[in-house]
Amino acid sequence: MAARGSIKINRDICKECHLCIHICKQEQISPSKEYNAKGYRPVIFCDTGKCTGCALCAIMCPEIAIEVYRE
Ligand code: SF4
Ligand code: SF4
Repeated sequence: MAARGSIKINRDICKECHLCIHICKQEQISPSKEYNAKGYRPVIFCDTGKCTGCALCAIMCPEIAIEVYRE
């Protein structure tokens, strides 16, 4: 059985660079239209049950805005 994971994105520090979206092969991260206090639109975790907890998104994020949890 494939590993299951989930992530938490800190929307206050996300700078909308979208590196995490491009690195996630499972397509679990999407752009959003809602702005944060700094004027960026933080990405969102769109959990379709396919997150493996691989942590590539967290490693890629220059702002250290993503935390990964594994089941
Ligand atoms: S941990 Fe891996 S699978 Fe899960 S959202 Fe991040 S890059 Fe995608
Ligand atoms: S890599 Fe980090 S800063 Fe860039 S969009 Fe993703 S969560 Fe936001």
